[in-house]
Amino acid sequence: MPQQTYFINNAFLGDHWVQNVRLTVDNMGIISGLQKGGSTEQGDQRLGTVVPGLVNCHSHAFQRAMAGLTEYQNSPTDTFWSWRNTMYRFANLVSPEDLQAIACYLYLEMIKQGYTSVAEFHYVHHQPNGAAYSCVSQLSQSIINAANIAGINLTLLPVLYMTAGFDGQPLLEQQKRFGNSVARYIDIQNDAAQYCADQSQHNVGIALHSLRAVPAEPMSEVINYFANNSSVCPIHIHISEQTQEVEQSIASLRKRPVEWLLDNYAVDKQWCLIHATHMTPQETKALARSGATVGICPTTEANLGDGLFPLRNYLDHGGHIAVGSDGNTCTNPMEELRWLEYGQRLATRTRNITSDNTQLNTGTSLYARGLAGGGRAIGQKTGKLKLGYRADLIVLEDDSVDLANIATGSILDVLIFGTSQSLIKDVMVNGQWKITDYHHAEEEHIKSAFIAATRALRV
Ligand SMILES: [Zn+2]
Repeated sequence: MPQQTYFINNAFLGDHWVQNVRLTVDNMGIISGLQKGGSTEQGDQRLGTVVPGLVNCHSHAFQRAMAGLTEYQNSPTDTFWSWRNTMYRFANLVSPEDLQAIACYLYLEMIKQGYTSVAEFHYVHHQPNGAAYSCVSQLSQSIINAANIAGINLTLLPVLYMTAGFDGQPLLEQQKRFGNSVARYIDIQNDAAQYCADQSQHNVGIALHSLRAVPAEPMSEVINYFANNSSVCPIHIHISEQTQEVEQSIASLRKRPVEWLLDNYAVDKQWCLIHATHMTPQETKALARSGATVGICPTTEANLGDGLFPLRNYLDHGGHIAVGSDGNTCTNPMEELRWLEYGQRLATRTRNITSDNTQLNTGTSLYARGLAGGGRAIGQKTGKLKLGYRADLIVLEDDSVDLANIATGSILDVLIFGTSQSLIKDVMVNGQWKITDYHHAEEEHIKSAFIAATRALRV
């Protein structure tokens, strides 16, 4: 693919808008030229309103197939823990082919709605009895294949999962597919990294399921192994999602989860803490100052009844945020950003919580924070129209009624709070058009494969 040039009427560069931008994208999908206030030249492709694509910092792909199937009452005190039983049933039914078909459709949906990268927190590794497939990274390869067919940038995060609780109890029968020794975990990592080694748009990082599923010693072993044996890679962990988890952490580790992590590891920008919902003001401040990113998943946290992240306090101390689709009942990043703000409004009975005097427009502030934190969470140069960054971008529908007569500075506010329609007309991922005029070239085939895969799962 030769280099291509684009002339953009109205471009959001990552934190501000600029008119008349001439963009050059090289044959690796990287932005190699950016001229502001220029004029169009022969051969330029003309684009109207362009914003960078977002990173989905947290996904469990197979859960897309069970969306909507846990919305009935088991008991008047249903919690995360009753939802988990249905999740285990699906996790134990899915085959490598099913996983690929489900993930592929999921990633297609994500791209159409504005995510151009996804961090897949991938914890189903083995056969249902816990035995490895003949290829130890079989299910990781299903995820990589799905990302390639749909055309999304992937950060694969194979998950280390070892115990059923803080007290080190062995895995339950339904958790056997998730379990690894440190040695087998490293095998999966190396195997998966090799499988996608020739694709520069993908990378592989570390995921530690949670403090309840990974004891301290193997956690250190894995972190040290990768610190010594590979280039810097992202480290993700589920943390402090549930109050029960906080209570168990205090009982077992004598500290709250975030407090314990910060006290025991050099948590910095390499880390992404998923949820971090339940923190004291001291933990919130310390985490914000660590340089880590928090991956907030508002629709999943609402769906599971987790609680609300202490957003304003965290932002006031310089905290970085990204959004994730987690359980994939929702695959629309605008809805995640909207509910991130709405949750805070409902709890505080005030408005415009995410914005501040550095950016007064709330939608713009949410979007800019999501872009910057997303790139940080996956350790990739994406989320900005900038030299050396990936050409991951969205073209908005300039002819839409919702954007008619809207000032440029309010476009992202409308995108998040002012429309129920998709205004995303075209999407470029890593320099290649994946969605053109609302359509993906493989869309019909991808949908059929998803429907076939769910036939046996959804009974
Ligand atoms: Zn999760």
